[in-house]
Amino acid sequence: MIIGIIGAMVEEITPLLERLKHYESKNIGGNTYYEVKIGGHTIYIAYSKIGKVHAALTCSTMILHFQCEKIIFSGVAGGLSPDLHIGDLILGSKLCQYDVDITAFGHPLGFIPESRVFIESDETLNAIAHRVAQNQHINLKEGIIASGDLFIADSGKKQWIIQHFGASAVEMEGAAVAVVCDLLKVPFCILRSISDSADGKADVNFDEFLESSAKRSADFVMMMIDQILEKK
Ligand code: SAH
Repeated sequence: MIIGIIGAMVEEITPLLERLKHYESKNIGGNTYYEVKIGGHTIYIAYSKIGKVHAALTCSTMILHFQCEKIIFSGVAGGLSPDLHIGDLILGSKLCQYDVDITAFGHPLGFIPESRVFIESDETLNAIAHRVAQNQHINLKEGIIASGDLFIADSGKKQWIIQHFGASAVEMEGAAVAVVCDLLKVPFCILRSISDSADGKADVNFDEFLESSAKRSADFVMMMIDQILEKK
């Protein structure tokens, strides 16, 4: 099996590379893809750089160039729902682009013709995540993740996203990965650990908790990889 793991920032994939140690690197389109062989399986790991466009390029490259059969995103996010605290893990049940707005033509917020507002992640991968969480006694939440090319550090903007999309967490890449995987028919899941609460303190919290939250997410993804490869 060939699996792709994507982070947005280097901090989000460093814990994975530290664990896996032996890898080869390949450069494509301004990104480095780390190739790791485990038994007869191959894992590609890369950070895309921040934002939906970069994530879409990395995800497309993982699938079309490296033939990845499953995509897992691991990283950090701003918590929107009050029951999500810094360090908590959330799995995206479905993803949306809250910054897409062609409502001037009568379309709903977040909607693009020939696409849809919400894109569901893969049930099988999500079930594996829940099994890992159960085995490890980790409290894994699941909810809508909203993506856009903005760092949300404002309670008003945060409330707007909750109100219009019912989202539990906000970040800047997940929906791009969802769109690419959906169109190319590759199962994906989006795992995020909360680094901040998308409010007035988000920038300070983000800087403080990026590393620890990114590691929590990466450690969890490694346990998922063990499960996925064990079964094959
Ligand atoms: N400090 C960085 C910028 C971080 S942008 C720098 O100066 O380079 C935030 C990153 O973490 C994005 O990849 C996004 O997916 C995620 N993220 C975490 N909290 C977020 C929030 N409150 N709003 C949007 N994205 C957030």
